[in-house]
Amino acid sequence: MKNAGKNNKRSIENTLKSITRGKRNAPKSGYVLIILLYLLATFVLLKTINLAGNDFMIGGFAIPLYRFSGVFSSLGNLCLIFLVVFYGRLGFFTSIGILALQFPHIVYDIFLQHNFSAIPGMFTNLLTLVAVVLIFVNRRRADLFEKGLVKNALTDILTGLPNRFAGREYFSRIMKKGDKFVYVAADINNFKSINDTMGYEVGNKVLLEIANRWRDLANGSSTGTFDLVARVGGDEFGIAVQDYDSEEKVLRTINRYKEELEKKITIDGYDYYVTASFGYAEFPADAKDVEALTAAASLALHDSKRRGQGLVLHYTPELSLLGRNLEIERRIREALDTNAVFFHLQPQYDMSKKLRGFEALARMTDTDGKPVSPVDFIPVAEQTGLVDQIDMCVFRRAAEFLEKAAKKGRTDITVSVNISVKHLLKNDFLDEIKKNLSDYEIQPSCLEIEITESVMIDSVERAKEIIEEVKALGIQIAIDDFGTGYSSLSYLHNFPANLLKVDKSFIDTIEEGESSRKYVESIISIGHVLGMEVISEGVEEEKQLAILKEIGCDYIQGFIWGRPMPSEEAEKLL
Ligand code: C2E
Ligand code: MG
Ligand code: MG
Repeated sequence: MKNAGKNNKRSIENTLKSITRGKRNAPKSGYVLIILLYLLATFVLLKTINLAGNDFMIGGFAIPLYRFSGVFSSLGNLCLIFLVVFYGRLGFFTSIGILALQFPHIVYDIFLQHNFSAIPGMFTNLLTLVAVVLIFVNRRRADLFEKGLVKNALTDILTGLPNRFAGREYFSRIMKKGDKFVYVAADINNFKSINDTMGYEVGNKVLLEIANRWRDLANGSSTGTFDLVARVGGDEFGIAVQDYDSEEKVLRTINRYKEELEKKITIDGYDYYVTASFGYAEFPADAKDVEALTAAASLALHDSKRRGQGLVLHYTPELSLLGRNLEIERRIREALDTNAVFFHLQPQYDMSKKLRGFEALARMTDTDGKPVSPVDFIPVAEQTGLVDQIDMCVFRRAAEFLEKAAKKGRTDITVSVNISVKHLLKNDFLDEIKKNLSDYEIQPSCLEIEITESVMIDSVERAKEIIEEVKALGIQIAIDDFGTGYSSLSYLHNFPANLLKVDKSFIDTIEEGESSRKYVESIISIGHVLGMEVISEGVEEEKQLAILKEIGCDYIQGFIWGRPMPSEEAEKLL
C-alpha cells in the first residue's frame, strides 16, 4: 500500500471501490493468446482462399481446400467474441477495432473491384459486430448490478463507511502483501446512555457525526499516516493505520482521532461530549491473521474500558491470558447454571490391586463439547470465588455415588473429593459440609477430603481447626500433592490427616536414580511414622509400580491401573 497514493488519491471511497472491483477479468496472457489465435486463423483463411484448386485428401476422397475457409473464418470471429466475454471493455474495443479495420478492405473489394464473392464475408462480419456489442452491453449491465450488490454488502448503511466485512477483506489484502499495519479498535464510552436518554435517532446522528469527522480525517493527510476507518459494530469503529515508522507516529494518529471525537457535537440544539476507549494491535508483530489481530485489539480495548480512563492501549500477551480467563469464567458460570459441571472417578488400589476407592475429579466441557482441563478452570474458579460451588457440586455427586455403592453392599470404599484451600478457609465451609452430608444416607468415613500441602504454609492454625472439625464429622483427610510445597515436618506432625499423596512429579523420576528412589522411600517412611497411609499418584509404568511395592507404598493411583472415568464405568468396578 506504500505507493498506492502516488497515482490515485487515497481515500476511504477509493479503497472501498478497489475492494468492490475485485478480480473479474481473465489473466492478461490469455488476451495475447486469443489475439495470436485470431491472427493465425486469419492467415490460414487467406492461404486456403489463395490455394483454390488444391485438394485435401482423406482416405481417397478429395476435398477442395477453399471449403475449409468457413472453419477459419468462424474461428477468427469466435476469438473476437471470446475477447469481449473474458476481457470486458478492453476486449470490446479490441474486437471493434479489428472489425473496423476490415471494413475498408471489404468495401474496396465489393464496390471498386466488383468482387461480389466478398459479400457473404461482409455479412459474417456484421453479425459478429452485433454479437460483440450485445455481449458487451449485457456484461456491463450484469457487472454494474453485481458491483451494486457488493457495494451494499460492504458499506455500513447509516454512515456510508466500510462495514466489518469490508474491513476484514481490506486487512486480509494488506496481510497478503505482507505490509505491516496497526488495527485500532475504538468503542464509544457510555453510548448506551445517549440512546437510552435521547432516543435512537439522536444516537444515530451522533454516530453519523463521528463517522463524518473520522472519514474527513482519514481522507485528509493531517494524520501523516494512511488510515482506513470502518464501522465494525453498533458503537464500535475500526481504524487501520499504515505508513508509519514508529509507535509514536501511530499514537499520534490515534490521538488525532480521539481529539476529533472529543470536540463538541451539536445535534438539534443540544451539545454532546463523547469519548471513546481505544485498543490496538499490530500486524505481524502481535498477530498473524485477521481473526487474531481483531481479537488482540479487542482485548486491549476491553482492558482500556475496564480501566475506564479513555486510555489508548497496545495489546500485550498478558491480555490474552486475561481474555482467556474471562472466557473460562463465563463458561464456569454457564456450566454451574446448567448443572453441566460433572466429575470423573479415578480408581485407587492397594499394591495387590484391591480397590481402595476413587478420587473424584471435576470435569467441564466448553460450548463445543470439548473438555476443559481442571488445571485451567480450577485456578480461574479460585480467583473468582466460583470454586466453592464446583467443590460442592463434586462433593454431592461423590456422596450420591457412595449411596449407590452402599446399596450394592459396598460400604468399604472411599471416595475422595478435592477442596480448594480458599474454600476450606471460608467461614461457612463447615456448615456447608454438614448440610450436604445430611442429605445423603452414607457413612461419613467413606468420604475423604483432599487438601493440598500449601494449606500448611498459608494458614496452618486456622486450617488445622477446620480440618479437626471435619474429622470430627467422621470424614477422612488426605494431603494432596505432597512434596511440592515447603511444609515443615513439625506442621505435618500435628496435622490430623490419615493419607499422604505423593505427587506425580516424584513418581515420574523414581526410576532415574538411587537418590530419587530414596527420596520417595523417605516420604513413605515419614508418612508411616506419623501414622498415615501413603498413596502414590500418577503411576504409569510397571517399573515404577515394582519400585513402589519394594519401598513399602500402601496404595497407588495412576493410568497404569485406571484412568479417570465416568461414574457409570466406575460402578462396574465395584
Ligand atoms: P490432583 O488432585 O493432584 O489430581 C490428580 C491429577 O492427576 C488428575 O488430573 C488426574 O487425572 C491426574 N492423573 C492421575 N493419574 C495420572 C497418570 O498416571 N498420569 C497422568 N499424566 N496424570 C494422572 P486432573 O483431573 O486434570 O486434575 C488436575 C487437578 O485439578 C487436580 O490435581 C486437583 O488439584 C484439581 N481439581 C480437580 N477436581 C477438582 C475439584 O473438584 N475441586 C478442586 N478444588 N480442585 C480440583
Ligand atoms: Mg487430588
Ligand atoms: Mg495430586
